[in-house]
Amino acid sequence: MHETHIVGNILRYLEDEEKRSSKSVKKICMSLSQFGGISKGHFLEHYKEKTLGTKWETLDIEIKEITFGPEIEITRIEYVI
Ligand SMILES: [Zn+2]
Repeated sequence: MHETHIVGNILRYLEDEEKRSSKSVKKICMSLSQFGGISKGHFLEHYKEKTLGTKWETLDIEIKEITFGPEIEITRIEYVI
């Protein structure tokens, strides 16, 4: 799966979360598997490119690289209080 597609899925998920919770997402924590084929740097490049000029470009993203586990996972979402 290419990163652009992954970023699109994440943004759709966050938009659904905002609707569901009636809150704004300010930060997400993610884990990336080191053996999953997506590097942190490459993911962030695609994220930046895809969200340029949208409200998502300022989202705070914390990425933890893990040895084993799912290729990519959102482990935590923080909302604007
Ligand atoms: Zn790429």
